[in-house]
Amino acid sequence: MTPPRLVELQCPMCKGRHWVIDSDFRGMFGTDLPYKKREYACSKCNHRGPGYRVLQKSPPEFLFQLPPVYPGTGRGFKWAGLAVLVVFTAFSWAAPLTPDMVIVDWLIRVGAPIGAILTLRHLLYSTKKRHFDHWHEILKQHFPDHPLVKDVRWHPGPD
Ligand SMILES: [Zn+2]
Repeated sequence: MTPPRLVELQCPMCKGRHWVIDSDFRGMFGTDLPYKKREYACSKCNHRGPGYRVLQKSPPEFLFQLPPVYPGTGRGFKWAGLAVLVVFTAFSWAAPLTPDMVIVDWLIRVGAPIGAILTLRHLLYSTKKRHFDHWHEILKQHFPDHPLVKDVRWHPGPD
């Protein structure tokens, strides 16, 4: 069986949408069905049967991962910091070393790119976090009794 995912389905009768938690591959013994052949019950018109269309699915790891660590400072501020560090890096390497400030010059040459890499890493983390928050919101809205919604370690950070 593959990990359960949040799946948004569209009813073949009324075109209404609803969410279920289901696995792409359900069984090990040939009992598996593609989503279109699986039977679901529509929450809008009560239609029961196959023919539901998958509109979207959460990433397979979503219901297993712990939320990414909240990075702290705002995103705009970090992009600005990243730009400054990149410019610093370029200038420090383009400019000749100042004879009486060789150590400082080298600190900037090495420090600025390291800072840029760390900042970029933070920015990528916060993108991951926004994805997490998006799926968390769907889970909370449609499956308020899901155990993960009540898990205190598993919640989105402040924005
Ligand atoms: Zn329906």
